[in-house]
Amino acid sequence: MLPDILGQPFAHKHTKLKIDGKVVKRLIAEGREALPYEYSALLAGRGAAITCHFANVSETTATDTFSWSGPALIGTLQLLRERELRWLGCVHTHPRTPAIPSAADHAGWHYPELSYWILSLARPDRPELKLYQMAGGRFFAREFEIANSSGR
Ligand SMILES: [Zn+2]
Repeated sequence: MLPDILGQPFAHKHTKLKIDGKVVKRLIAEGREALPYEYSALLAGRGAAITCHFANVSETTATDTFSWSGPALIGTLQLLRERELRWLGCVHTHPRTPAIPSAADHAGWHYPELSYWILSLARPDRPELKLYQMAGGRFFAREFEIANSSGR
């Protein structure tokens, strides 16, 4: 599906995936606003650098699962294409549990070439962001770098 939209954030073995610090701040803020429900967003950028996010606009709300409706996903991917960005990954929150992939996470992820992020808000004072890559049906934790945005 939409091969020209799919990025390959893990393709460069010696380049750590980067995510913009501003994006991380927004994800934490928006994830907190969505509590007690899960929040999810699509992550986009170029190469191995995530520079923006698109919050899920699907109507479903849940505390232990997240899902994108077909139209919401396709609409967001069209937006990416217009901005000449690549789809690099997805992030969702775990409102009450650690940033460890659940059974539903394993069953629901179909884009192993993309990055899979979990933001745990179980400890309100200490949000925890983790990056995973799926290989052979299992998630592996990966290191990443938070990039400094220009300015502050
Ligand atoms: Zn999850």
